[in-house]
Amino acid sequence: MSSKIIIAIDGHSSTGKSTVAKELAKHLGYIYVDTGAMYRVVALYALQNGFAKDGEVDEFLLTQNLKNIEITFQYNASLGFSEVYLNGVNSESEIREMEVSSYVSKVAVISAVRQKLVALQQQMGVDRGIVMDGRDIGTVVFPNAELKLFMTASAKTRAQRRFDELVAKGNSSVTFDEVYHNVVERDQIDSTREDSPLVMAKDAIEIDNSNLTRKEQFDYILSLVATKI
Ligand code: C5P
Repeated sequence: MSSKIIIAIDGHSSTGKSTVAKELAKHLGYIYVDTGAMYRVVALYALQNGFAKDGEVDEFLLTQNLKNIEITFQYNASLGFSEVYLNGVNSESEIREMEVSSYVSKVAVISAVRQKLVALQQQMGVDRGIVMDGRDIGTVVFPNAELKLFMTASAKTRAQRRFDELVAKGNSSVTFDEVYHNVVERDQIDSTREDSPLVMAKDAIEIDNSNLTRKEQFDYILSLVATKI
């Protein structure tokens, strides 16, 4: 077995996938890729160009313009992770705003969008030694990943975490109900879309972290990694 592996972390929104993926990548000296950020960047582009408005996404225009979207990551040493750039502009904070969250799952149902992003993600993993989180990593992007985790928690727990995060970042206009509604809506769209729906890979290990501390969860995941390296 090769010593550098691919770790695929999938699961529902706001289950702390990216937090644990970042910690894991740091611990192992691996690259971390947040694929949700890539879908969010496409949603941001759609919003900036008027292809997403009034709750709808113009699939035709967005597909036509996909070639004009360049997504790159740049490592930020002070943060300890890579930030995402849309056509050379750091978009890390804008993509987390509620407006982007409210369109991202509608953008992610579009097959042309998925094809472009999946191809990029597969390229990033050619040298292995990568932790990637998303919705379809263990099923579509890296079906042969050595370790697949599927993270979940109750919708209320997830919405509360997301709400606390937004408030901590200084977002005072958002309400808990809005965040809860967005979490439930994204689950619904992500799980029922035709192309690459959010499903647990057959060989994934499910982790419900509603009642786990971060440390308990991390230690458990490290013990799983140890069986694969
Ligand atoms: O991970 P995050 O919550 O930031 O992802 C935002 C949205 O992007 C998800 O709700 C989903 O619609 C989409 N997504 C996806 N496939 C991925 C990652 C994210 O469809 N691999």
